[in-house]
Amino acid sequence: MKDVLFDLRHVGKRYPTARSAIARLWDRGASTAVEDVSLTVRAGDALAIVGESGSGKTTLARLMVKLQEPTSGTLNYRGVSLAQPTAGQLRDFRQRVQMVFQSTHASLNPRKLIARTLRESYGEQHEPPSLKEVLDMVRLPISVAGKLPHELSGGQRQRVGIARAIARRPELLIADEPTSALDVSLQREVIQLLRELHRSAGLTLVVISHDLAMVGSLCDSIAVLHGGRMVEHGSAREVLYRPRQAYTQQLIAAIPRGLAGRPALAV
Ligand code: ADP
Ligand code: MG
Repeated sequence: MKDVLFDLRHVGKRYPTARSAIARLWDRGASTAVEDVSLTVRAGDALAIVGESGSGKTTLARLMVKLQEPTSGTLNYRGVSLAQPTAGQLRDFRQRVQMVFQSTHASLNPRKLIARTLRESYGEQHEPPSLKEVLDMVRLPISVAGKLPHELSGGQRQRVGIARAIARRPELLIADEPTSALDVSLQREVIQLLRELHRSAGLTLVVISHDLAMVGSLCDSIAVLHGGRMVEHGSAREVLYRPRQAYTQQLIAAIPRGLAGRPALAV
C-alpha cells in the first residue's frame, strides 16, 4: 500500500461574518466555507477537487498548506498533526508540500527579478538545483530569469509559479485553478506539464478546478465540493461516467460534448 500523505478528518472552516472584532463579540454569525470534509491522499495520487465558484476549493487548499487553520476537524500529514507541529515538523512539511496559486499577479512579487524569486524558493536544500534546471523543468528559456513578472506572458508567469513550487523538490503539489487565467492552448501546455511531473517525477498532485473536462484528463480520482461539502468522491471514470449526485451530473452536463456523445475531455 502506498504511503498516506494527507489524512483529513471532518475538516471545517467558518469565517466570521461581522467585520470588526468588537462587532464579532456581539454577532456570533459566521459563514461556512468548508464543512465536514474527510479525505485521504496517498503518494502517487493525482486527485482533482472540483466545484463551482464559491464551493470552498481555495479555502480547502489553504487549509492543506497551513496558510489557514481549520475551525473544526483535523489534518494529518504523514501521520503528523498539522495543528501544533514542532518547528522541525513544520519545516519538513513546508518542504514536502507546495502550492501553485490561482493568481500569479498576487503571488509573484512585481519588483523582483524571476531569478531572485526562484532562488528564494529553494529552501534549505544541500544541493539546490540550478536556475537552468528549474526553468528547463517548466520549459522556460533561461532568459526569463532576468525579467520581471510583468515582462512575461500569462502562461510564462504561471509556469514560473509552478517552477517556484517544484524548486524545493516537493513530494506533493497543490495547484489551485492553475489554468483558469490562460487561453486554451496555454491551458493545454500547463496540463501537459503537470502530467509530466506526475508521471516522470512521481509528484503527487492535488489539482483544484471548476473545469471537470480539464481535470478528467489529468487526475485518477475526483472529489466534488458543493457548498463546502464533499458531495461525491471516486475514480475519475466513476465520477465522470457514472455520477451519483445530481449536482455532479449538472457539472458534467456543462462540459462540451465530443463526437461520441461523451464529455470531450481536454487535451
Ligand atoms: P472557491 O475557491 O471554490 O471559489 P472559496 O474557498 O474561495 O471558494 O470560498 C468559499 C466561501 O468562503 C465563499 O462563500 C467565500 O465568499 C467565502 N470566503 C472565502 N475566503 C473568505 C474570507 N477570507 N473571509 C470570509 N469569507 C471568505
Ligand atoms: Mg478559488
